[in-house]
Amino acid sequence: MPRAEHNISRDDISDNALKVLYRLDKAGFDAYLVGGCVRDLMLGLHPKDFDVVTNATPEQIKGLFRNCRLIGRRFRLAHIVFGREIIEVATFRGHHEQSEPKDKSHQGEQGQLLRDNVFGTIEEDAERRDFTINAMYYNIADYSVTDFANGIKAIKQRRIELIGDAETRYREDPVRMLRAVRFAAKLNMNISDATGKPIVKLGHLLTHVPAARLFEEVIKLLISGNGLQTFKLLLEYKLFGYLFPHIAPQLDDPQSREYRFIQKILINTDNRINTDQRVTPAFTYAAMLWYPIEERSQQLTFESGLTQHDAFNIAMNDVLTEQIQRIMIPKRFSTSMREIWQLQHRLPKRFGRRAYQLLAHPRFRAAYDFLLVRAEVEGGELVELAEWWTEFQDASNDHKKAMLESLRRQEGRRGAPRRRRTRRKKAPTSGSNAQ
Ligand code: ATP
Ligand code: MG
Repeated sequence: MPRAEHNISRDDISDNALKVLYRLDKAGFDAYLVGGCVRDLMLGLHPKDFDVVTNATPEQIKGLFRNCRLIGRRFRLAHIVFGREIIEVATFRGHHEQSEPKDKSHQGEQGQLLRDNVFGTIEEDAERRDFTINAMYYNIADYSVTDFANGIKAIKQRRIELIGDAETRYREDPVRMLRAVRFAAKLNMNISDATGKPIVKLGHLLTHVPAARLFEEVIKLLISGNGLQTFKLLLEYKLFGYLFPHIAPQLDDPQSREYRFIQKILINTDNRINTDQRVTPAFTYAAMLWYPIEERSQQLTFESGLTQHDAFNIAMNDVLTEQIQRIMIPKRFSTSMREIWQLQHRLPKRFGRRAYQLLAHPRFRAAYDFLLVRAEVEGGELVELAEWWTEFQDASNDHKKAMLESLRRQEGRRGAPRRRRTRRKKAPTSGSNAQ
């Protein structure tokens, strides 16, 4: 497709990506934009990053750019670093899939598969890509677009379709099932029959995907601005249970509190992303595990007579430990998740200084947002509690005092049973802390 026949303008391409393309071109190499950025430009969307492919080898690329880092052990890629923007440059990749037998003679000294690093032609590179809409190449030499797999037609028909035989492609890389769903939601397209059919049958292959990779993928699925739609498709294709096995059984019923909770959490996240507000994966992950933890905690209290506090801590640990077998949640997020959960049980206890301490807690805002959604779903006392915190946050100092005073009087009338009981229990062990 020559320049005159498509709508991709250099004005819409990042300056840094153009710099990289032109430098490769000047040095006599082929240089193309490829993948998501070409697809998004064709659709009139703003690409979030720009990927370049070339026939230059990683070493040749490194020779051309001072700001270049080579990464990846199995297949080496070049990252050209421009401050916060990174342009990824890959050498055309050949036909050497991991599905081939692990033949000793092809292993290097460290045991890595050398054949994975065999470079290919642009045609081979295109065949290795996942969806037809992701195999369009924008050539910097003449600004033409080469569409290797009928991606333009698929865009017109708004169709997500894999290149090649769907089942084979999913067996090569099960993450493609998640990607099919992600692109359908993000681009508001339909998954073609041939591409959609095998998913339910092959979903279980996701259990073989490394947990660290799934962490990244799930962020792209749920924290992307189309989380709700993606969630619904994940349920439709029966993939959600492989990601979050604890909560999945409750999600068959759209009226369940679990379903309504996740739905609201995802709507919130989508709104925040679409209005450029900060979001954290900790919040979304915390939501996925909240009701399973509550349930486990109640079960433990009931069966073993543990205190609620202890049962809750054990439930948190157990559910989290089971979850990270599937999806590796990095420590910095799981720490925040625990804080969000623990704060749910601390927010009702507002007496005296506690209210101020909670307000100053680094995770207060997230925990409060979390509480708001729970209140919407569960109603009852939680609504009052959420309203109280809404008012307290913005109240003047005098008004804060008055709110706490009135709370004290109310609780006094009710006899504040919980407070007294915990104090008495602690008294013998904590000595001076008794009164
Ligand atoms: P996004 O807008 O989410 O970045 P993208 O299509 O750019 O979408 P990336 O994960 O950035 O997705 O991948 C870039 C390109 O690499 C894809 O367009 C596709 O051509 C190829 N690709 C990525 N992952 C796979 C995969 N699992 N199998 C085959 N090809 C893939
Ligand atoms: Mg991309």
